[in-house]
Amino acid sequence: APKPRAKPAEGPRLTGIDRIVAVGSGKGGVGKSTVTANLAVALAAAGRRVGLLDADIYGPSQPQMLGMHDRPASPDGQRITPREAHGVRFMSIGLMTRPEDALIWRGPMLMGALQQLLGQVDWGKLDILLVDLPPGTGDVQLSLTQKAKLSGAIVVSTPQDVALIDARRAIDMFRKVDVPVLGMIENMSMYVCPVCGDEAHIFGHGGTRAEAARQKVPFLGEIPLDLATRLASDAGRPVVLEAPDGAPGRAFRTLAERM
Ligand code: ADP
Repeated sequence: APKPRAKPAEGPRLTGIDRIVAVGSGKGGVGKSTVTANLAVALAAAGRRVGLLDADIYGPSQPQMLGMHDRPASPDGQRITPREAHGVRFMSIGLMTRPEDALIWRGPMLMGALQQLLGQVDWGKLDILLVDLPPGTGDVQLSLTQKAKLSGAIVVSTPQDVALIDARRAIDMFRKVDVPVLGMIENMSMYVCPVCGDEAHIFGHGGTRAEAARQKVPFLGEIPLDLATRLASDAGRPVVLEAPDGAPGRAFRTLAERM
């Protein structure tokens, strides 16, 4: 497994964390949050101390995917105690706002909220903190990437060109701020018909592997397009828990082993 370059985590609340790894995508809707949730839960199931920070301010989907909507506690009005879901310590901008709030915030307000998340959440000791980034490569993503003292980043893409073009931009962004790209993951790689068992490549296949080779970053694996995965996410129990031995479950567990 590629070992990220060690970077000291700064800030009082990040010091107990071994590694902070961001999950990004250029494009929205490619499954970045699904991958992050499953990876976190798979790591926790394998005995790692895991945190998940949902920083996707434009559409925080982790409360839904992890089945946790409770506002986190703050014993002293300063520190924030993360929630726990499926063994993962969890914090989301979605737990702090009403769904309609974040949509109308301007950049500085968003950054303020994110800084609060980064600075005030008491994660305790963690082997790894996964950060679900907002899609895209704008100012918010860039400063978050810099402020979170990342030890590395993973880029999720689907195999089609429109997604890969944006994934390339995400890789570019991480490189600009000197965050090592740990690798790329292809989501919605193939669809296996539950009736006839035939494989269909709805968004193409192998595009992400080829792009990873071009970018000279590791290719970490592929996740099939799968109804159970979507249903499990909507029900708040990631598929890696629901069906650990199905194809997506196995794929996520293999990914977790590589982390
Ligand atoms: P992003 O975080 O990139 O915006 P999401 O993880 O929210 O994307 O995924 C978008 C939608 O696609 C969600 O409804 C999710 O359940 C579904 N989805 C993601 N990956 C898969 C997959 N491999 N198979 C089936 N549905 C998926």
